[in-house]
Amino acid sequence: MSEGLQFVKDRDPHEPEFIQSVTEVYESLKVVLDAEAAYRKAKIFERLVEPERMVIFRVPWQDDKGEYHVNRGFRVQWNSAIGPYKGGCRFHPSVNLSIMKFLAFEQTFKNSLTTLPMGGGKGGSDFDPKGRSDDEVMRFCQSFMTEMFRHIGPNTDVPAGDMGVGAREIGYMFGTYRRIKNEFTGVLTGKGMSYGGSWIRPEATGYGNVYFAGEMAEAAGRTLKGAVCMVSGSGNVAQFTLEKLLQVGAKPVSASDSSGSIYVADGFTAEMIAFLKNLKNVKRGRIKEMADAFPNVEYIPFDGKAGPGVQWNHKADCAFPSATQNEINEADAQNMINNGVWLVSEGSNMSTTLGGIGVFQENKILYGPAKASNAGGVATSGLEMSQNSMRYLWTPEEVDQKLKNIMVTIHKTCLDTAAKYGRPGDYVLGANAAGFIKVAEAMLAQGLV
Ligand code: NDP
Repeated sequence: MSEGLQFVKDRDPHEPEFIQSVTEVYESLKVVLDAEAAYRKAKIFERLVEPERMVIFRVPWQDDKGEYHVNRGFRVQWNSAIGPYKGGCRFHPSVNLSIMKFLAFEQTFKNSLTTLPMGGGKGGSDFDPKGRSDDEVMRFCQSFMTEMFRHIGPNTDVPAGDMGVGAREIGYMFGTYRRIKNEFTGVLTGKGMSYGGSWIRPEATGYGNVYFAGEMAEAAGRTLKGAVCMVSGSGNVAQFTLEKLLQVGAKPVSASDSSGSIYVADGFTAEMIAFLKNLKNVKRGRIKEMADAFPNVEYIPFDGKAGPGVQWNHKADCAFPSATQNEINEADAQNMINNGVWLVSEGSNMSTTLGGIGVFQENKILYGPAKASNAGGVATSGLEMSQNSMRYLWTPEEVDQKLKNIMVTIHKTCLDTAAKYGRPGDYVLGANAAGFIKVAEAMLAQGLV
């Protein structure tokens, strides 16, 4: 076992998500580390499993009734060897240091894969925006930024959105940063179009995932056209995955939130996707309400023995997990195989447990790991940073074309790298190795810092 992996297990035994993500990466990198003595001598892996900096801070805020609350805020700055730290902020009650560290670690490899000059970072809070008024969310975001502003900057660290952080939250945080610093800079991405945002950024993660899946299918002589596709989640990533699947002629049949899932045997229509966007982004309602509005929508609550696993138990060709980490376990993966799934492309980060990945690999299905398949979101954030630096705006068509080109390049890089290390078709190895090598080369060149 690598010193690096053992080091993590010994030092952070209470961080299961972080250990899981390091284990997955290490399993892939063994062949690279065996082949490259310079990486071993410089202890690149051991250095890469330790973040450059972690900031943990108190976020006090007041609710509408005047009551005081205290949440915990995080910013984990993982690696800046190839560019400023870059990665989203997550607001969700489950947020803790283990989750922040796994996300920032993964982000480093993903950002490297995008071909753009971005290091890796992640942040967030255990604040739960669900059920909070706009004013409460605003006060929380202002308090969060009142501390985070010290640690970020357009050439230092550029946060964005993630679960629980969308256009509304980015707007409040940007306003606070602009006021404190008295400067208008591209310090956050995912901004609104009236103040420095980029076209296609909201769509980018979901669209990019479908572009990546299309490439995987084509490389295997298959197509997404007519493919029955399961999708989980109903937030930003899920909404635009559903939309792009419909546009490319696939048949998306499911979506979910943390309470239950919906199944539409004859497939989503554009009208249903528009309803879902309004329900989730404007009304901030629950997915169950889709079944009240459309008679052909079946609602399946997660209160049975199978829990959220029921959402993967449908006859289908493809699956696009787009909710949260570890949403596919070994049993879910086996159910998918039994139900005819031949492609899984991850929209959420670390969607699949190590056991689930093993099932996909044993059954040789097309499996796109999140570091590659959902990289379109951060890649388009990178394009937003470029436009902010130029004080210029590309058209939606230009940004979409650049996003497509990036996803095609990431796909080719994964395949070429997997083949180079003797495991053709292994997208997990391809994504981990290619993402690692670029960062490793930069770290070697920059010495022991
Ligand atoms: P949102 O907050 O917009 O949506 C998250 C969705 O997942 C909600 O529908 C939420 O339901 C659902 N969900 C949360 N927990 C569970 C659960 N345990 N079971 C089932 N559903 C659940 O987040 P995003 O769409 O932005 O992010 C989704 C995933 O994609 C995350 O893993 C994120 O890290 C990843 N990602 C996001 C990017 C982006 O650009 N936004 C970029 C790259 C990756 P509920 O409303 O009940 O909470």
